[in-house]
Amino acid sequence: MRSNTFNVAVLAGDGIGPEVMREAIKVLRAVEKKFSLNFKLTEAPVGWAGIDAAGQALPDATLALCKQSDAILFGSVGLPDRDPTIPKDQRPERAALLRLRREFELFANLRPVALQKELAHTCPLAKERQGNGVDILVIRELTGGLYFGKPKAIEDIGNGQRRATDTMVYTTSEIERIAHVAFRAADGRQKTAGKGKAKVTSIDKANVLENGILWREVVTKVGKEYPGIELEHMLVDNAAMQLMLKPSQFDVLLCENMFGDILSDEAAALAGSLGMLPSASLGATRGEQVFGLYEPAGGTAPDIAGKGLANPIAQILSAALMLLYSFKQPESHNAIIAAVSKAIAAGNRTGDIFNPIDDATKKIGTTEMGDAIAAAI
Ligand code: NAD
Repeated sequence: MRSNTFNVAVLAGDGIGPEVMREAIKVLRAVEKKFSLNFKLTEAPVGWAGIDAAGQALPDATLALCKQSDAILFGSVGLPDRDPTIPKDQRPERAALLRLRREFELFANLRPVALQKELAHTCPLAKERQGNGVDILVIRELTGGLYFGKPKAIEDIGNGQRRATDTMVYTTSEIERIAHVAFRAADGRQKTAGKGKAKVTSIDKANVLENGILWREVVTKVGKEYPGIELEHMLVDNAAMQLMLKPSQFDVLLCENMFGDILSDEAAALAGSLGMLPSASLGATRGEQVFGLYEPAGGTAPDIAGKGLANPIAQILSAALMLLYSFKQPESHNAIIAAVSKAIAAGNRTGDIFNPIDDATKKIGTTEMGDAIAAAI
């Protein structure tokens, strides 16, 4: 029988990190009680909090804790106004976050973008373009492609000219593993959300790039293992346009690293506020378990930090993704999604999603939003 005890490294980080993490923990405790689970949540410093506590953005003890844990629940790191003299490679964004991604080989980045109908005003698209609503899962390959391929250089080539080279490289196995993540996620969404037919839209540039040709070939082959899931291929330029014209046509969007970097931000804009957007970065499967780092899509929001104004929903939904992908607890994941919807439907709004002309809503702070969601569990 699978154990119901899960060890989580809780790294709140800087800025609004500790404020929104407090609310995610509150919600996890409510879920724990309701579903008879046991979360062993161990907090450790990271980011500037790590530098202040132990002289490193990712202290050795924090990394050791992560290695002993089943998943990492991460807040955010980085404070632009703190010590600009610190070398780039010791700054929290690099020394903590990128290091964790590398250390745990987190090759799959998942960003669900959902727009609840009560929050239609936060979406930059006109209502008629929103169609039946936005509910997209963007899956981005995170460790290959143009950002990491070799050779990578800027070199002098004489006559005062310099040449920059970046190399886009993907192997069959790199494409296969991210394609499996996409098809499994589409299958899971169909089962848990009771949707109609699930669909994976695979993004490439097969008309110009050799990488695109191989990507399309391999994804097509992997897709044959998932006959219940529709597969379509779309060129990246068309996908960028279709996201703005008719986002409701998409279910799971599967992208290589650079295309995913761009399209995931474009898709994120559809949800209106960064405060609503969770993310998961998944590594390889360890036996039955998938190790992952779960964090809000936004950063430390220094402009509102310490004021109790931040929207904790992105952090709370990140915890929900952890329950789904690392702990295989779809019921408790769904309970959090439903509780967030209920809290929103009841009119609770933090400043970032507040609509002053909607009399049926009230502006509340970080703690009140966490309370409303925990109560709805
Ligand atoms: P940001 O995402 O922190 O903030 C951008 C805007 O979104 C701000 O106006 C902020 O108030 C708002 N916002 C973000 N999260 C919100 C929330 N939960 N509720 C309400 N409003 C929210 O981006 P930035 O200002 O460019 O970066 C600030 C710092 O965060 C930088 O040091 C950056 O490097 C770092 N950062 C870290 C991560 C990470 O840890 N994963 C990600 C992005 C940025």
